[in-house]
Amino acid sequence: MKKILFIILDGLGDRPVSTLGNQTPLEAAKTPNFDFLAQSGLAGLLNPLPPDEYPTSEEGHLSIFGYDLKKEFPGRGPLEALGIGVKLKPGEVAIRVDFGTVDPNWVVIDARAGRIEDVSGLCKAISNITIQGVTFNVYPGLQHRGVLVLSGKGISSKISDVDPHKTGPHRLGVKILWERPLDKTLESFFTARILQEYYLAAHEILKKHPLNQERILKNLLPANVLLARGAGEFQKVETFDKRWNVKSACIAGAPLYKGIACFLGMDVVEVAGANGLASTNLLGKFKKAADALSSNSKYDFLFLHIKAVDVFGEDGDCKGKKEFLEKIDIALGKIIPKITHGNIITTVCGDHATPCTLKDHSADPVPVLIYDGQDRDKTENFGESFCKKGSLGHLQGKEFLKKVLKI
Ligand code: ZN
Repeated sequence: MKKILFIILDGLGDRPVSTLGNQTPLEAAKTPNFDFLAQSGLAGLLNPLPPDEYPTSEEGHLSIFGYDLKKEFPGRGPLEALGIGVKLKPGEVAIRVDFGTVDPNWVVIDARAGRIEDVSGLCKAISNITIQGVTFNVYPGLQHRGVLVLSGKGISSKISDVDPHKTGPHRLGVKILWERPLDKTLESFFTARILQEYYLAAHEILKKHPLNQERILKNLLPANVLLARGAGEFQKVETFDKRWNVKSACIAGAPLYKGIACFLGMDVVEVAGANGLASTNLLGKFKKAADALSSNSKYDFLFLHIKAVDVFGEDGDCKGKKEFLEKIDIALGKIIPKITHGNIITTVCGDHATPCTLKDHSADPVPVLIYDGQDRDKTENFGESFCKKGSLGHLQGKEFLKKVLKI
């Protein structure tokens, strides 16, 4: 069986932009290596999720990897927790949190607290707090992100998000929501009540925290609120390797994607300088990916995730998205000889679209390609409008992975 390099560029899909000559960032980008793979391989479009659903990254990935989101989705919290090395115990609840800034009326001024770099000191200040027998701990993630874990008896993850993220990634001018139960069980009512109490207590501690006082003096926004979402509990699913008969590993920078890999039982291969940001060590990631698929390696499936494409989309920075795609292409070019000798299938897709004009995820399809060393489609370039004409057609969910595994 051939080995597979499975590249997911987060938020890859986009829409034509007038400042890029009515092309998408991917179409406008100079990407000779992606173009080569598309020209010599198979191209198409993919909707990781049904088009009427708002696509989150975690759902997009699990759907692409062939998991049933109704039965096999633990929620974002547990995935983020796994990604930063926090293993939940049965009965614990994990919630993804962003440290943000609110005004005295709880209206969001900045959902990333002025892009705060390190929240570990703040996490410590609002950890080890016990309310009615339930202990709250917050673990720091990348930049403004963290994970809140609840440990104790009689708790439930069937509780609402207080983060108004459904209004868009920036939530500007939106009031944060009140915690409420999502079903009628005592556990959900109890959890919602103590969580609300905790959020209020955390807000008071954060407001007065010396690190935040210092930020205010420096004219920086204080990280004074937890924007929490995606509560979930410990869950175990069939491993990716068992489901698809492969030996898999993952290379990613951002914790969520390492967490998704851990959840699916993939090994996580660490790369120095892989940080999930635009400054990530792209070349290091591609080189490690090629090494992990070398003939003497035990792996035959390597999931390589690159995050910052999505971030440029959410910032509405179409030029930045285009230029970052060009940087990825240069890094990919360095390993082309190692992945085009005939024993490796290389695939590229996105977990959802993040059109710069929307500054948000959308259900638009994403372009995909499969390169297997045989001359196939005559796709001109790797881009949305070119891939639309590709022979893979328009795929949904796990259909893309199944095609890849059948080659
Ligand atoms: Zn994503």
